[in-house]
Amino acid sequence: GLMLPQQQVQAAEKTYTIGTDVTFAPFEFADKNNKYVGIDIDLMNAIAKTEGFKVDIKPLGFNAAVQALEAGQIDGVIAGMSITKERQEKFSMSDPYYKSGVVMAVAKGSKVQSLKDLRGKKVAVKTGTASADYANSVKAKYGFSTVTFDDSNNVYDNVKTGNAEACFEDKPVMQYAIATSYKNDLELAKNFKMAMANNYGIAVKQSEANSLTPKINAGIKKLKANGQYDKIVRKYLGNGS
Ligand code: GLN
Repeated sequence: GLMLPQQQVQAAEKTYTIGTDVTFAPFEFADKNNKYVGIDIDLMNAIAKTEGFKVDIKPLGFNAAVQALEAGQIDGVIAGMSITKERQEKFSMSDPYYKSGVVMAVAKGSKVQSLKDLRGKKVAVKTGTASADYANSVKAKYGFSTVTFDDSNNVYDNVKTGNAEACFEDKPVMQYAIATSYKNDLELAKNFKMAMANNYGIAVKQSEANSLTPKINAGIKKLKANGQYDKIVRKYLGNGS
């Protein structure tokens, strides 16, 4: 038969569809040109490049992305997604790439600064998140109710306008919001210690556990070793991260 040169017989790079959140800065957010940027976006693209595959990143919203993954409609999720036992049972979770945990934020100057101050009050949380799980696990004890939103911005705005007294959110994301868009509006609750320390990982659908996950893990390892990972984090957080 006809012998083809090596380059021509190489299989075309496979494209994986990866879901992400819509607004979760500095991990994913639309810039002023409505282009999706952030640590997760750059990281996912860098992993794909190093490991020789293609990605189509879709900003679906956090809960919608997780649901789509569970339904097998997409191949993976990168969205500041905390590695939890429950998710490790449902999905193939990559190795950890970023440390996080849950913090409480309130309107700037608020009298509410601790869990104990929440009695009888409303707390805003985001659908399907580790923070929402945390709120649900302590709300009976501290006597507060929750109000749920799909996007982080709506959670923050609800506290800003005074509809809710506080919110729970991931530490690096809440700190970033307070340092940027919500500078005059929100602050971290002073008497709340970070809860539910966790790590972010990339979720992969079970059927790709032996193909995509090992590539992702190899990519994370290489990018951490060669300094590219730190460069990506610094691009969004500066040197103070
Ligand atoms: N880290 C949180 C979780 O995994 C929140 C993620 C997000 O809102 N994008 O539940």
